[in-house]
Amino acid sequence: LSVPDFVGFGDEVRALFEDARDYRGGEVATYIPQLARVDPEHYALGLCTVDGQRLSLGDDRQSYCVQSTCKPINYALARDLFGREKVHAHVGREPSGRSFNELTLNPLGLPHNPMINAGAIMCASLIRPEAPLADRFDFVMQKWRDLGGGEPAAFDNAVYLSEKATADRNFALAYFMRENNAFPDDTDLAETLDFYFQCCSITVNVQQMSVVAATLANGGICPVTSRRVLKAETVKDCLSLMYSCGMYDFSGEFAFAVGMPAKSGVSGALMLVVPGVCGFAVWSPRLDRCGNSVRGVQFAQTLVRKFAFHSYANM
Ligand code: GLN
Repeated sequence: LSVPDFVGFGDEVRALFEDARDYRGGEVATYIPQLARVDPEHYALGLCTVDGQRLSLGDDRQSYCVQSTCKPINYALARDLFGREKVHAHVGREPSGRSFNELTLNPLGLPHNPMINAGAIMCASLIRPEAPLADRFDFVMQKWRDLGGGEPAAFDNAVYLSEKATADRNFALAYFMRENNAFPDDTDLAETLDFYFQCCSITVNVQQMSVVAATLANGGICPVTSRRVLKAETVKDCLSLMYSCGMYDFSGEFAFAVGMPAKSGVSGALMLVVPGVCGFAVWSPRLDRCGNSVRGVQFAQTLVRKFAFHSYANM
């Protein structure tokens, strides 16, 4: 077993989860009106090991929208379809050092990486571009289901509409990329943005998201169903990008202090991957200045003080 004493481990995780509950700093995201209405006190944690041992705490049945945690998934789906060379002809793999929606491209006129908005819009354009939008969305929903152990993901239409109605920056990013010929030929810009907003508005609970994280920890094979969902090479590259770019403008500090691949979203979602061991999902809506969940970051920081999950813990 990847975690031999799972009961003991669960007790420690529960204690860290409860300690982080006291961190009530930060604010819920307000730039998407629907997100501003979420109860800031929500708090939940999911854990799944690569051999399928599971634990969940707090508001573990409550769904929340995935927001930017769809970015590694969309990157992985594009990669599984098109491979490394084609995908990275359209998106870089360098941290931007800027906020997630900054109007900036790399010196080649491409988005810096798939974990910020510009790069995620680009990856959305690379998911089955030839298919009708309905089929593309079905495809992504099915993948979330497969990654998450078989329970269907859902969709929050109010968040989608709210997001779409306040998306000037994302439109600006898309036009800026088109001006720089960054998209594949024949990309429909409006449809691509719509698809990106829809992907951000997919909802799951921490139980499902922890299985998604565990599928990444397990090289693309879902620990609950034992089915391969993503290619191993795709997962390797996805985790590398989560490690270097997954926490917005806090990515370098997070890699330094926590040392594990992670991805946050403005809904307060956080996915943490311990390669070869387990995946965690934390959800707590209040965000710090970088846009990361305050309790989520606190939990991750204390977790690596207790357990040797930092990539370079065993030096
Ligand atoms: N849907 C959000 C946006 O595009 C996602 C950003 C985020 O989670 N940081 O602005």
